[in-house]
Amino acid sequence: MNIENIKQPFIKIFPGDFSGNTMQRNTPKVLFSTIDPVGFDHPKMIAFNEQLSEEIGLGKFEEKDLDFLVGNNLPENVKTYSTAYAGHQFGNWAGQLGDGRAILAGEITNDSGRKTEIQWKGAGATPYSRHADGRAVLRSSVREYLMSEAMFHLGVPTTRALSLSFTGEDVVRDMMYSGNPQDEKGAVVIRTAESFLRFGHFELMSAQQEHKTLQELVDFTIENYFKEITSEGIQKYKNFFENVCRRTADLMVEWYRTGFVHGVMNTDNMSILGLTIDYGPYSMMDEYNLNFTPNTTDLPGRRYAFGKQGQISQWNLWQLANALHPLIKDEKFLEEILNDYGSYFWESHDKMLCRKFGFDELLKSDERFFTNWQSLMQNLQFDYTLFFNELEKYDDQKDLRQQFEDVSYTFLNDEKLTQLQHFITDYMSRLEENTISKEESLKLMHTTNPKFILRNYLLYQCIEEINEGKTDMLHKLTHALENPYKRIYPEFSAKRPSDYDDISGCSTLSCSS
Ligand code: AMP
Ligand code: MG
Repeated sequence: MNIENIKQPFIKIFPGDFSGNTMQRNTPKVLFSTIDPVGFDHPKMIAFNEQLSEEIGLGKFEEKDLDFLVGNNLPENVKTYSTAYAGHQFGNWAGQLGDGRAILAGEITNDSGRKTEIQWKGAGATPYSRHADGRAVLRSSVREYLMSEAMFHLGVPTTRALSLSFTGEDVVRDMMYSGNPQDEKGAVVIRTAESFLRFGHFELMSAQQEHKTLQELVDFTIENYFKEITSEGIQKYKNFFENVCRRTADLMVEWYRTGFVHGVMNTDNMSILGLTIDYGPYSMMDEYNLNFTPNTTDLPGRRYAFGKQGQISQWNLWQLANALHPLIKDEKFLEEILNDYGSYFWESHDKMLCRKFGFDELLKSDERFFTNWQSLMQNLQFDYTLFFNELEKYDDQKDLRQQFEDVSYTFLNDEKLTQLQHFITDYMSRLEENTISKEESLKLMHTTNPKFILRNYLLYQCIEEINEGKTDMLHKLTHALENPYKRIYPEFSAKRPSDYDDISGCSTLSCSS
């Protein structure tokens, strides 16, 4: 790998703490602290993403690169650092947070001039670890490694994962916070993104009244990642906020398309570029349920439930608007943009739903159709992904119950079947309104509705296997997630087996990782 080409422009531009002090602390007025990865004596590679490595300009992996995967014996040019950010967690201001177990190696540029940031997750404590150990366990690392790649191949904006390695060290975790701590295998993921900047970085500088740094950070972000913005002065900052809103809304629509529930949508977990970031207690949704939250910490409020993500992203953007106010100084404008956010989001959302159903255009009457569909889904306990796959194959010559029984998590009694029949009749007449051909409509469905989603129970099985030293499932899942619009392994494109309904780490997840 071309590790010698990694550079750290961020630490040359912004105020930082160069003391190298490892103590966990507040670091006012700065955006980062330099810190070294802790180092691990017996690292072992589990997976390496060759295609990504080539694409971002790091090139081929060689045996000598193993040390780099966990942050050992770094060359002179790699001056590592962790960034400081703040955030609103579960609706409350939490003050300084920061990269508690992420350490940045810096940025690599590929042959086409594209820049990518590289960071380790789990390579040791940083000044921002807040009494935690800065380590990551195998289970959460496998979940981040595979899911971020699954999202990428689904076409959802996301950070990506370059490698997954054992550290050779055990980590103690109380997985369900039940007073039952256990040793778990430690692991490190290297993840990449165009930028890891979050809403929280802007909130931190704003809260500390560091308006000059705030402005420099926004200028830097626009110059590097929002090249479409060409305006100047206050207008430039207004356009920036509008762009962040648009990217965030687009991301939410993609989460709804694929059935992704993030689980911890705190403002520190919101990427300024509109990427899916920080894979913790997330879940792909099996059974359609607007109230579904995978995160045990999110019960009973269900602030971050599937159906709330649109609204919560808007709440998070309010916090960003407050943070950017010193630059924009125009409450009326910010309010208008945030109000427009709702209508833009819902229109994009409904257009996306149209594509899932194979409709070429959104019609006025669709609102009623979608409401009926939602009640059908919840009432008949349909699997979100499998329902659309089945709809693509619908054949009015076949028995309705037989066609849909494997898609439901309940028995389809006569009453339920009648509701389904009514829905199908409505659907058929709605299809008649299409101005595109049957083939084009089906193609729309094929490209919008995944055939494979990385369900929690599959991840659970995969983690169990890796813990036992086997990697068959890891390879199979990697192959499946690289082709989400195909049915490569039929057994992976099926309902969650009921044995997994109540297993922690499967149906419910904690933030412990
Ligand atoms: P999140 O759940 O992503 O909102 O994380 C909240 C904060 O906790 C972030 O600043 C994380 O970096 C930090 N954090 C989470 N787990 C650990 C850990 N094991 N060691 C250090 N910091 C952590
Ligand atoms: Mg986080």
